[in-house]
Amino acid sequence: MSADPSLLELTVLGAGPAWSDRPGSSGAAYLVRHGETAVLLDLGQGSFPRLIEAIEPSTIDAVLISHLHPDHFIDLVPLRHYLAYQLDPPRRVRVVAPAGLADRIDALHDHTGFTAATLDCEPYPSGPFAIGGLTIEARRVTHTADSHAIRVGGGDGPGLVYSGDCGVAADLAPLIRPGDTLLVEVSFGVGPVPAGSFHLDAPAIADLVASTRPGRVLLTHLQMGLDRIAPVRIVEAAVDGPVSLVEPGDVFDLRRT
Ligand SMILES: [Zn+2]
Ligand SMILES: [Zn+2]
Repeated sequence: MSADPSLLELTVLGAGPAWSDRPGSSGAAYLVRHGETAVLLDLGQGSFPRLIEAIEPSTIDAVLISHLHPDHFIDLVPLRHYLAYQLDPPRRVRVVAPAGLADRIDALHDHTGFTAATLDCEPYPSGPFAIGGLTIEARRVTHTADSHAIRVGGGDGPGLVYSGDCGVAADLAPLIRPGDTLLVEVSFGVGPVPAGSFHLDAPAIADLVASTRPGRVLLTHLQMGLDRIAPVRIVEAAVDGPVSLVEPGDVFDLRRT
């Protein structure tokens, strides 16, 4: 854990889309640490080994799952196994997620109670809630019927707003405070987003940040084969702070830009 109790730190464990030809790419997974508190935002495919490299998984205060697409939650399966079989005695981890998560993981294994063996799943409460020293705000966004963007704040000062997967950029605006870091999906790069696909492109993000003024923009979840530089340039032109496309291993001090 961080020695500095004021530090709010983001570690990117996985920043991939649902599929990729990039070696080492893994699904969405973002670790946020503040003092003694650690929360994980999503745990997509292939990210469990990076999680265990970054932190002892059983010490995480909660995993927050943005929505029930597997590229955002499927590595809860290795987490469940690790907690059940690697540790003696087994340990448990809290999971805040859309309703139905445990049933989906149980169905994969045709085993009722599989998930509940080590994961305590609960739905998002209405309104802000605390996890350790962090304040969490979740807000429904346009993607699946039950998809959430999440703001993570630690006391006063800038926080982190994570889009999850999101089809309407304006859905994120109520969560963003000036100076926050915005971690936002840019699935379709420079665009356009095909009709009927609920994801974002760089022009939509540029419009959003021009009005909401985050202090830094981190782009993620870019689809396979798309230009990795042009989306950054489009968003850079709309905001004063730094803009980058994140990679696993990136670490950000969210109090500074
Ligand atoms: Zn999705
Ligand atoms: Zn996704």
